[in-house]
Formats: sequence, structure tokens, C-alpha cells
Amino acid sequence: MTTAAKAEYKALTNEEAEALVKNLGLISETELSVSEIGDGNLNLVFKVTGVNESVIVKQALPYAKVVGESWPLTLDRARIESDALIHAAKYVPHLVPKVLYTDSILAVTIMEDLSSHTIARKGLIESNAYALLARDIGIFAARTAFYTSDFYLHPFEKKRLVQSFSNPELCKITEDLVFTDPFFDHETNDFPEELRPDVEQLWSDAELCREAGLLKYQFLTQAEVLLHGDLHTGSIFVKEDSTKVIDPEFAFFGPLGFDIGQFIANIALNYLSQHHHSQEPFNRKETQDKLLKTIEETWKTFENEFSRLFREESTEPFAGTDGVLENLLEKTFTDAIGFAGCEIIRRTIGLAHVADLDSISCSDVQHYLKRKALKLGASLIKTRSSVTTIEQFTSRVRGA
Ligand code: ADP
Ligand code: MG
Ligand code: MG
Ligand code: MG
Repeated sequence: MTTAAKAEYKALTNEEAEALVKNLGLISETELSVSEIGDGNLNLVFKVTGVNESVIVKQALPYAKVVGESWPLTLDRARIESDALIHAAKYVPHLVPKVLYTDSILAVTIMEDLSSHTIARKGLIESNAYALLARDIGIFAARTAFYTSDFYLHPFEKKRLVQSFSNPELCKITEDLVFTDPFFDHETNDFPEELRPDVEQLWSDAELCREAGLLKYQFLTQAEVLLHGDLHTGSIFVKEDSTKVIDPEFAFFGPLGFDIGQFIANIALNYLSQHHHSQEPFNRKETQDKLLKTIEETWKTFENEFSRLFREESTEPFAGTDGVLENLLEKTFTDAIGFAGCEIIRRTIGLAHVADLDSISCSDVQHYLKRKALKLGASLIKTRSSVTTIEQFTSRVRGA
């Protein structure tokens, strides 16, 4: 009697990634080429190309590439990522790459090649505008949230999904890097000495640290909806007529305002960076105005679409009660402003920065803008309850 070889994880070489695609028949051509194109910190990304066809093979590594093998990280995140993409495709098929194959032992997802698109962060740094971005992200966040909420799902199905998207190791990264370390003198922080007085001011601000702690507590405890969990502008592909959300390996059930908060924070950071990237004053104003419009339209789309689904498709009897939706949206908005503040601070002084600010070669300008970011982030966290409309948020960004 023969026993089938036990399937085991191994990190793929270029040749093995190519062979996998060929053996699965995902590309019918025989002459293929392959390159590793990942720019991320945690995973390998191979592009396998024929003459007319191409696919992307994403494989999780058992450790964080940025730190090395000393930081082990669960391979289960590859299963979570492909499950989240497949789940999102039920509600927003036009906004995610098609998943062609998954293998949870190899920690591989093979998906549609989106090379015709540009990573939003890159395009925005080049001062390009994307007319669909706000609407598409608002729709993405509203639909993926509503259809995984208790307003829509049977309580058994909701709890089954919460279990299946349990993602403790990736959540811990967010809990540490977004909500904890930037508010303490922690070794993961990363900022130039010139900013030390500004950073020490944050660390000694008792009100700020308390409010950041309360936001962290919400992130830890509120399993409201299935989130993307890492919805910054590096997780979004754009072109003029299309938007695609990628990289949901941080997906888990968390507070409804988190994805939107993270997204608008990254647009706000790009807004600040335009002081440098958009050199000519007239263009700069136009670019920055469009960014603030993007923030406003994202929230409004999210609010309208979530409200429409809530009214038309809720199965929960209390959804019909006056004020439930209004209360939920008010709380979600306040949370989103607070989460945005945390994201702005962590991207400025924490472990993973954004190229929007870090690519500014003149260090005086870079530090000047980072100081503005820190002040903006801190004030959003502390006074989030008094920001009651998205226009008040964008005027805070404008005034920063
Ligand atoms: P990580 O989790 O390591 O950040 P990402 O999923 O963000 O990995 O992918 C890293 C990079 O690989 C992206 O910025 C993009 O350049 C490329 N990439 C990822 N998915 C695709 C895709 N479906 N099509 C084309 N390029 C992709
Ligand atoms: Mg990346
Ligand atoms: Mg990524
Ligand atoms: Mg990722």
C-alpha cells in the first residue's frame, strides 16, 4: 500500500511558482516567464506571464520579511486573505481581484493580474486624481460591512464567520503598531531625532494616551463586521475606470469605523505631502481640493450605501426602530475619526511609514510636514467627539 506524500509548506522559487501555474492549467500557453514583484513586508508575490495571459501567485512567508526569520508569523493569514477576497466577491465582485486557486498548506493565493492598474499610493504621490476611488471605497466598505453584520446575518452564521476569521497574530500587529507603540517610548518606533521633542510631547500627553487606549479597546473588543483590516492606499489598485482592493490578510471582525478611518487617514497624509509633491501652487490647490473631496465622498457614499442596505435588507427586528441606524452611524463616525488619528500618528513615527512623507528628500520640509501630521493626529484622537460632520474633518486637515 502506498501512502500519498504528506503535503508540506515550502517557500516557492520562481521556477516552482511557474510550474504551479502551468500544472494547474491556469495559463494555456507553454512559454512562460516569472518574476518576483512583491514590495510588501510579509509575502512573496510572483507574476507568471505568457504572451497573452498572466496571473499573480501570492505566497505568505512563515515570518515577517521586513524583520527576518526572528519574527515568526502565522501562514493562516493566506487562508484568511483568500477567504476574505472570495467573501468580498459575493457583494462587490467588481472591486476585488478574481481568486483563481488557493492552497492553504502552501499558503498560496493565485489571482487575477492587475498590472494594468497602479497602486493608489503611488498614483496619488504623483498628484494624479482618481474619480472613482471615493465612491468605490465607500461602496466596498459599506457592502462588505453590512453583509457581515448582525443586521443581516443569522446570529449562528455571524458567530461561525467570526470564528473562521479569527486572526489573532495579524490583529496583534495592529494592536501594537497602530494603537500602542507610538504612544510609548517603544523600540519599534522610528523617527528622526529632530522630531524627538514633538514625539515626547505625545508620550507625556495623558489625555491623548487615554483616548488612544480607549480606541485600542474598541478594536480589541468590538466584533461588529468583517473588516479588510489594512485598507491603506497601498492596498488599493486604481486606474481611471476601475478600483480593486487587494491584500486583506489582516481581515477580522472589528469595529465598523476602522477601515474607513484608515483609508481617510492615508488620504489626509497624502494631502499634507502635496505641499512638496505638487510644486506649483495652482496645481497644488487643485490636487489638495480633490483629495479632500475624496475623503468627503468616501464617507458620504459609505453612509448612504450602509443606510440603504440597513433599511432594505436588515433581518434584525430592532433595525426598524427609530434612531438605531442614526446612533450606529454617529458612533461609527466618531470612531473612524479616532482611528484615523491613530493611523496618522503611527504612519509618521511608528514602524511602517508611508512613502507620501518619507519620499520627501528635503528633510526640513519632511519634518515640518510630519510635525503637522502629529498635531493633526493627536487633535483628532482627543477631540473626535466634537467632529460631527465629514466637512469638519476635512477642514481640520486643511487647517493642519
Ligand atoms: P503584501 O501583503 O506583502 O503587502 P500585497 O498583496 O500588497 O502584498 O502585494 C504586494 C505588491 O505586489 C503590490 O503592491 C503589487 O505591486 C503587487 N501585486 C499584488 N497583487 C497583485 C495583483 N493581483 N496584480 C498585480 N500586482 C499585484
Ligand atoms: Mg505592499
Ligand atoms: Mg500590501
Ligand atoms: Mg499585506
